Amino acid sequence: MVGARINGRMELIPTQEEVIALLRRTGGMRDGHYEYPSGRHTSEYVQVALTMRDFNVSNILSVALSRKVRSNSELRAMLPNLSIVAPATGGLPVAYGVAEALRTKRVYWAERNNGEEALHFRQYLELEKGEKVVLVDDIFQTGAKLSEMKKLVEAAGGEVIALAVIVHQPGPDAVDFPGLPFYYLAKLDATYVDAAKCEQCKRGVPVAKVRL
Ligand SMILES: [Zn+2]
Repeated sequence: MVGARINGRMELIPTQEEVIALLRRTGGMRDGHYEYPSGRHTSEYVQVALTMRDFNVSNILSVALSRKVRSNSELRAMLPNLSIVAPATGGLPVAYGVAEALRTKRVYWAERNNGEEALHFRQYLELEKGEKVVLVDDIFQTGAKLSEMKKLVEAAGGEVIALAVIVHQPGPDAVDFPGLPFYYLAKLDATYVDAAKCEQCKRGVPVAKVRL
């Protein structure tokens, strides 16, 4: 079993297949018929937060992601002065796991009070001018949130020097981050489609709504 092989061998970076097996084993990836809040449908539900509730697995994934960041010699040289910025709440377990493994300087997170409001840093959670940060999240799909985070960090005087996520699942309209190193552990196909093109809908399969 994949997990058993990885347990106790945390110096390894799990392969794409091993990451997918860990996601499935922990309920973070499920087959079915789902509708996202955007209205699009998918046969594959991905929710990394469900995987991160297993501390041992979350540790394996965070350490693996940190090793990918560390493999960049420029980033490695900056580590003691590097900070991690993540969106609450899904990015937080990844951010703290990576920060612990890399011994980075600080962790910051951005929050949103309701669906309409912009991401912001809590009062007194202030970046230093010129602070170098790695943006971290659990999953990349549209890139909209990381794009908003990047602008927030820059407006606060920080400098984004890399991005790192557990699962990379870019859709056709995903935001690009040219020139920035981008690290991930598994790349998944974007399986979501417009409801009108959904094969399961055509077959009358009941749909479950994805809630965040
Ligand atoms: Zn459907």
